[in-house]
Amino acid sequence: MNDENKSIHEFDLELICEYFVNLERQGPGSPEITIKALSFIDDLNDKSLIADIGCGSGGQTMVLAQHALGNVTGVDLFPIFIDLFNRNVEKLDLQNRVKGIVESMDNLPFRNEELDLMWSEGAIYNIGFERGINEWRKFLKTGGYIAVSEVSWFTEERPAEIEEFWMDAYPEIDTIPNKVAQMQKAGYIPVATFVLPENCWTENFYAPQVEADKLFLEKNKGNKAAEEFIANQRHEAHLYNKYKEYYGYVFYIGKKI
Ligand code: SAH
Repeated sequence: MNDENKSIHEFDLELICEYFVNLERQGPGSPEITIKALSFIDDLNDKSLIADIGCGSGGQTMVLAQHALGNVTGVDLFPIFIDLFNRNVEKLDLQNRVKGIVESMDNLPFRNEELDLMWSEGAIYNIGFERGINEWRKFLKTGGYIAVSEVSWFTEERPAEIEEFWMDAYPEIDTIPNKVAQMQKAGYIPVATFVLPENCWTENFYAPQVEADKLFLEKNKGNKAAEEFIANQRHEAHLYNKYKEYYGYVFYIGKKI
């Protein structure tokens, strides 16, 4: 990695939140993909309990709630996202069965075997995929489902530049068969995996950032950290375009046995 490119870990969290709160999504995805992942999950009813972990402002949670029966709890570490989440809930008139709460994914407030479905798009990396699927399993009923999206390698080998970028950003990135094996080992039937199409990154994640970058830079004029953060975001988008045949987001769906 070249020295001008800072690791995402070095930026101020408040700054990152301020940036992402202006975007509908905080990670790659789309409503169609949320609905597709949901199509692999059987047996939900109006008594089902669903949790969306690392929900952000809730773009995908609202889609989930509109296409699945049951009660949905969105969990995020940052109150700024949860405030926005709960405002979105009211706007869509979902407050009788959707609620956002501020909690950490490494200390979730659920009871053992309480949940029918644990959802998490582009967020489990915060504690790591393997740790997350193992620790969260206890909250699921037997026969309950986990559905998470996670950055993954598509090939066994890849160019050094992109390998180095991800080894710094998220060393737990791995191939799809390795992630599936982790899921099986953690005590789930690997029900489905599928690769998120490119538009989940280009149109839905990186394109809206162009306008968000402008606003953010205007608001934080002269703030070196803010400028570096944006440069870093742009670098990440550039690398995606250059190396998208080697990695992307993958949905992993498992059923607790
Ligand atoms: N699921 C959303 C957001 C993905 S970004 C989407 O797909 O758009 C990752 C999210 O994880 C952010 O909202 C971030 O605030 C949240 N997060 C980071 N660390 C967390 C933790 N320890 N516990 C809960 N949420 C966390």
